[in-house]
Amino acid sequence: MKLKNIGLLIRSVLTGYGSEWESLCNNCGVCCYEKTENDDGAIFIEFDKPCSYLDTSNNNCTVYNERFRKCRECSRLGAWHAIYARWLPPDCGYVKKFRKF
Ligand code: SF4
Ligand code: SF4
Repeated sequence: MKLKNIGLLIRSVLTGYGSEWESLCNNCGVCCYEKTENDDGAIFIEFDKPCSYLDTSNNNCTVYNERFRKCRECSRLGAWHAIYARWLPPDCGYVKKFRKF
């Protein structure tokens, strides 16, 4: 995996993912749906199964500031995901910012 903007990646990890990190999200909502993986390792986003806290009319999280407390399945999208998560779409802001294709 080739990377770019490593400085921002490291800075975000060290400073706890502040507003610069948050601003990379383009609000597509894809990471707020259930995902399944088949036997061949292909990952499918279950677009008929959104998180119950996702407002699908605008892709906003309705509990954003309390999401980690309210939703057991919710976790911060951090550096590891930005670099490695195969379920993030190519147009995810983190994928576009850090992965070099
Ligand atoms: S997939 Fe990426 S751009 Fe889309 S909502 Fe999730 S973090 Fe934001
Ligand atoms: S709780 Fe987490 S997974 Fe659910 S909509 Fe909010 S950000 Fe997305």
